[in-house]
Amino acid sequence: MGDFRRMVEGPTLKLYNTMTRAKESFAPIDADNVRMYVCGPTVYDFAHIGNARPVIVFDVLFRLLRHLYGEEHVTYVRNITDVDDKINARALRDYPGQPLNEAIRAVTEKTEKQFQADVGALGCLEPTVQPRATDFVMPRADGKTDMKGLIQSLIDRGHAYVSTGEVLFDISSMADYGRLSNRRLEDQQAGARVAVDTHKKNPGDFVLWKQSDESEPGWDATFQVDGRDVTIRGRPGWHIECSAMSAAYLGETFDIHGGGLDLIFPHHENEIAQSRCAHGTPVMANVWMHNGFLQVEGRKMAKSEGNFVTINELLETETFGGRKWPGEVLRLAMLMTHYREPIDFSLKRLEEAEALLARWRRRAKRDASVRVSDRFLGAIADDLDFSEYFRLMSASDTSAEELFAAAELVGLDLSQLDTNIDVAAHIERRLSLIGQKNWAEADRIRDALLEQGIQLKDGKDPETGERVTTWEVMR
Ligand code: AMP
Ligand code: ZN
Repeated sequence: MGDFRRMVEGPTLKLYNTMTRAKESFAPIDADNVRMYVCGPTVYDFAHIGNARPVIVFDVLFRLLRHLYGEEHVTYVRNITDVDDKINARALRDYPGQPLNEAIRAVTEKTEKQFQADVGALGCLEPTVQPRATDFVMPRADGKTDMKGLIQSLIDRGHAYVSTGEVLFDISSMADYGRLSNRRLEDQQAGARVAVDTHKKNPGDFVLWKQSDESEPGWDATFQVDGRDVTIRGRPGWHIECSAMSAAYLGETFDIHGGGLDLIFPHHENEIAQSRCAHGTPVMANVWMHNGFLQVEGRKMAKSEGNFVTINELLETETFGGRKWPGEVLRLAMLMTHYREPIDFSLKRLEEAEALLARWRRRAKRDASVRVSDRFLGAIADDLDFSEYFRLMSASDTSAEELFAAAELVGLDLSQLDTNIDVAAHIERRLSLIGQKNWAEADRIRDALLEQGIQLKDGKDPETGERVTTWEVMR
C-alpha cells in the first residue's frame, strides 16, 4: 500500500491551466482516484531529448500527486501511438519485402522497447496504463471505449459526416470549438491560406477515419449514416485515439490532460471537440497542461529540423560533448527551467546539473524514516516551480536526510554513484602521471573526481611498499 495522505493536510497544489490561462488551485473530481492523461510517443523512431521533456515533467507531477493523494489513488495513462503514416513509411524502408503488418509490428515493438528503456533510465515511473492505439480501433470484448464507436456517436449526434472515403468532424457543429487554442471558427473560414479542400464543409474539419489503400494498414469499419451502412476499410485519424483511450481508462471527464505546447492545436483542440461532442459533456479534462520546448540555438528540437539528439545517444554514446551522460543529469537539467519556459539545451547546462547532483550527493544521507518536509512539497506544488526547491536544497538548515528525501520526491536518487565515472581508469591514469612526476595533471584528476563526490586516498601496499590509491564516495 502506498502512503495515503489527504490533500487537505498538505500544501495546496496549483496548476496553470491552458484552458483558462490562469494558475488554479487543483481540486480532483475524486480524491480517491486522481486521473491524468498525457499524449505519448509515436513509435517509429528513437525519442529525442525534446520528447523526454513532457515525460519527465509529467512524471514529476505524477510523483507529486501520488505523494499528496496516495500511491493507489492516482491513475496516469500515457498512450503508445502505434498506427501512423510515419510508422508505415518506416516499416517499408526498414523491412522491404516483408508483409506490411509484420513490418509495422517489428518497427513499433522495437521502438517502444527502446522508448521504455530510455525513459526508465531518466528515472521515470511507469504510468499506470500504457494503452496502444491499435488495441482501441475497433469495438473491444471488454466494452471499453473504442475509436469506431466514438466516431459512430459523432455521426449519430450530427458532428461528423462522410465525404470521399473519409469521416470528418464538422467543426461548425460545435458552438465553442477553438476555446483551448483561442481560435475562432470565423478566422479559420476566412483564412485564405488554408488550402481549399472541396470535400470538407469547413476548411478546419479534420479526419476521424480515412480510407486505406491496399498497401496501407486498415480495419473494415461499417458506419451507419442516415440509415444506411457505409463500410470503409480505413484507419483512424491522429486525434481520435486519445479521445478513445482516455475515456476507456479515465472516463468521459477527468482531471488533467498534458503534453507539449505543440499539441494545443490541432491535437488537443480536436480531442476536446471529439470527446465532448461524442459524450455530450461540457468538459473533457479540467486542467490542460503544456510544457515548453527544448530548443537548440533558439529553435525547437525536432526530427524535421535535424537538430536533435536522441535520449539513447546522450546516455549511451559519446556524440554529445564527447562523453556519455547519466540519465539523472538530463533529468535534473530539465528541471532547472520551469516547465512552461523554453529550455536552451547546451553542454553547459548538463555540466551544471552534474555538478549540482554531485554537490547534493556529497551531503545527502538516506534515512527511510525521514519524510520529505512540507516546505519542499509546498515549493513545487506551486505549478511545479523549482526555484524555491533549489534554494532549499542548498540551504544550510536542510538536513542531509531531508535533502535525500526531497530529491527522491522528484525522482532523483542521491544514493547512486555516477556509474559513468570509471574511477579505476582515472586512478590508473593518475598513478602513471605521478610516475612521470606530472603533478599538475595528477592533481587535476584528483580534483575533478572530488567535484563528482569521489575522494581518492593514497596509501602504501604493506607488502610491496608500492603506492596504492583507493576511493570512496564522500558523504
Ligand atoms: P511527437 O513524437 O512529436 O508527437 O512528440 C511527443 C511529445 O513530445 C509531445 O508531447 C510533444 O509536444 C513533445 N515534444 C516534441 N518536441 C519537443 C521539444 N523540442 N521540446 C519539448 N517537448 C517536445
Ligand atoms: Zn493525444
